[in-house]
Amino acid sequence: MSDIATTAESTARSSLAAEVSRRRTFAIISHPDAGKTTLTEKLLLFGGAINLAGQVKAKGERRNTRSDWMKIERERGISVVTSVMTFEFEGLVFNLLDTPGHEDFSEDTYRTLTAVDSAVMVIDAAKGIEARTRKLFEVCRLRDIPIITFINKMDRESRDVFELLDEIEKTLALDTTPMTWPVGRGREFLGTYDVVNGGVRLLEGGGAKTGAAQQIEIAELAKLNANLDVSAVKDELELVTAASKPFELEAFREGHLTPVYFGSALRNFGVGDLLQGLGKFAPEPRAQESDQRKVEATDPRMSAFVFKIQANMDPNHRDRIAFARLCSGKLSRGMKAKLVRTGKSMPLSSPQFFFAQDRSVADEAYAGDVVGIPNHGTLRIGDTLTDGEDFNFVGVPSFAPEIVRRVRLTDAMKAKKLKEALQQMSEEGVVQVFRPRDGAPALVGVVGALQLDVLKARLDAEYSLPVEFEVSEFQLARWVSSDDRKKLDTFIAANTSSIADDVDGDPVYLARNEFYLGYTRERAEGIEFTNVKDVK
Ligand code: GDP
Repeated sequence: MSDIATTAESTARSSLAAEVSRRRTFAIISHPDAGKTTLTEKLLLFGGAINLAGQVKAKGERRNTRSDWMKIERERGISVVTSVMTFEFEGLVFNLLDTPGHEDFSEDTYRTLTAVDSAVMVIDAAKGIEARTRKLFEVCRLRDIPIITFINKMDRESRDVFELLDEIEKTLALDTTPMTWPVGRGREFLGTYDVVNGGVRLLEGGGAKTGAAQQIEIAELAKLNANLDVSAVKDELELVTAASKPFELEAFREGHLTPVYFGSALRNFGVGDLLQGLGKFAPEPRAQESDQRKVEATDPRMSAFVFKIQANMDPNHRDRIAFARLCSGKLSRGMKAKLVRTGKSMPLSSPQFFFAQDRSVADEAYAGDVVGIPNHGTLRIGDTLTDGEDFNFVGVPSFAPEIVRRVRLTDAMKAKKLKEALQQMSEEGVVQVFRPRDGAPALVGVVGALQLDVLKARLDAEYSLPVEFEVSEFQLARWVSSDDRKKLDTFIAANTSSIADDVDGDPVYLARNEFYLGYTRERAEGIEFTNVKDVK
């Protein structure tokens, strides 16, 4: 009997390991306009997840079915929603976590990066490394997330290619290994040379998708384009082959080296190479740190953490969706999970997969996958779900707000309702709410100004609460803590009028400006002021 049990167990283990090893969970980081949306569409086309390019940023009807506050997104032409797209390609399951492209909502973006194992960095060939790419790259580096580079828009005039690679190396302190190399530039761009296997893949005529590079002799390129200086191309390819650093998987996995692909997302060129590179080099679901132990992805016991909450994605489903990244084991529909924060059990009756933008009910998901869990406010950002064990994943951050405002209610009778609404909004991560200990009205803090517009629109639409925001005497908020409980209590007692509680009841010091903050900090011995908090 026990033999049978052991055999069944080991079969389950190996099928779990097989499922986990075919997952690739990644995000695309880029500066707005570099081509992230276009590339996303083309990647999804490869996986057959959508059959009509253009759906990712679809305008018209699909958009109109979204709820009211999404109007803000529409009007400003930016993407507020972090969506998850799953597709299969060559036997692998890719989970692409989309990050909002706008400067605002960076908090959401950062949290999304806690849920991926690798990232694709898209660079506009005419522009090189831009501000936002750099910022996002820094977040990836902090988390040791390996990066694959896609230099896009090669069909247009670009900057010198050697110079682009040099810029990556210097500004990001990241070695580069070109896996492909552009042949011809701008209007004369003919395709890419496969640096690893040799051969040229042509932009026009076959091979552009997944086919192997066509073995075209360099000399023959002249026949295709009379303007091409074939001997210069030859020299350049020799130089690239001789001078490039060889690709080293370990250096890549440790975040020291990036393989570089060239292409044109718009022309669907080079995207297949990129996807194959992702499949081959990008890591399988990684182990995740918790406050008890490191949790391996192949650990048979289910565990997950919530990194994003989305409300009202679809008016037909008036609920909240918590996006949870599975860290270990397998999640089956109907199973009960333990919400570690409360110790309560919750049934996962209809976890959802996200195939492009259609929600579909999933029967099972494995470590590395992201599932949407509908709930009515039970789940919060940073929550850990397990199959019964008691541990919390660490490392889902909350950032100190850059803008602090007081919420003014036009109808004072609705104060209680506002309190509830703000609580919900802060649990969803829309804004942070700080309740001053001296009983003054609540303050809201945001990282980007757009969050305030979203909050106002949602309070109005969902709670019939018209509000205004007022500049408060406080501009900055920092979490305060100390190893010495007494010291913290003394500090709090001496500064009550500047102390507030965040959504978890953790103390926050509110400062009028940087000067006050610096002044207080210098005098508060043994107190730590932080602008990032680990959400638990
Ligand atoms: P995002 O803001 O990063 O999502 O960028 P989009 O994908 O929306 O692209 C921004 C603009 O660049 C759009 O007008 C695209 O059509 C264009 N674009 C994207 N990829 C390419 C490309 O490979 N070549 C050219 N010529 N244009 C591109």
